[in-house]
Amino acid sequence: MIIAIDGPSGAGKSTVAKLLSKRLNFEYIDTGAMYRALAYKAYKSNIEINEANEYKIDEMLKSTSVDYYNNNIYLDNNDVESLIRDENISIGASQISALKNVRIKMVELQRKIAENKNVVLDGRDIGTKVFPNADYKFFITASEEIRATRRYNQLTASGFESEFNDVLSDLKQRDINDTTRTISPLKKAEDAILIDTTYMSLDEVVKTIADIIGGYNVL
Ligand code: C5P
Repeated sequence: MIIAIDGPSGAGKSTVAKLLSKRLNFEYIDTGAMYRALAYKAYKSNIEINEANEYKIDEMLKSTSVDYYNNNIYLDNNDVESLIRDENISIGASQISALKNVRIKMVELQRKIAENKNVVLDGRDIGTKVFPNADYKFFITASEEIRATRRYNQLTASGFESEFNDVLSDLKQRDINDTTRTISPLKKAEDAILIDTTYMSLDEVVKTIADIIGGYNVL
């Protein structure tokens, strides 16, 4: 069974997806972490992420392995979970994810990792591109201010120093990048269920989704 959770940055997708996967005893795949890992590698390799460097990034891709298991992201067989969450990498991920070969490779990988499993995946294109036939599709969103506040609190709690206004403007920039790119732009799949979490607690969101999936006997 495939449960797809898409939506813009800071909407709470990954927190919801993680809780839901635990509750269902499903695997969880954080597809954003894969793009973040690639942005991290480009950054470490001093490759600026832009279209002019697409060739260099393609070369980098050929010698890069990305994997996701047990809630952790692996880059070239090293766990990089704690290295990919800062704002520079967020912006880098949204730039690198717009490149064609990057998307082809990551989508292929995501399908392979999820093959023959019960999985909750979160991202931007799970319901539209990676698994258009997913059993359940949700599109989770919230107001810009609330999403920036959640992101800011998350960064602060993880020990990253940041200014709220910078977080808000990064988030707006990522929204623009993600919704306007040519390949698989962020958009709600027609058959996805929209959940606006602006005025909802985390528990309420998880319960709403669990109720919709309902009847599924592990709940
Ligand atoms: O979800 P997260 O914020 O970690 O994702 C980082 C970036 O990766 C997003 O801003 C988006 O540009 C990109 N992404 C994507 N497709 C996905 C998941 C993430 O393009 N399925």
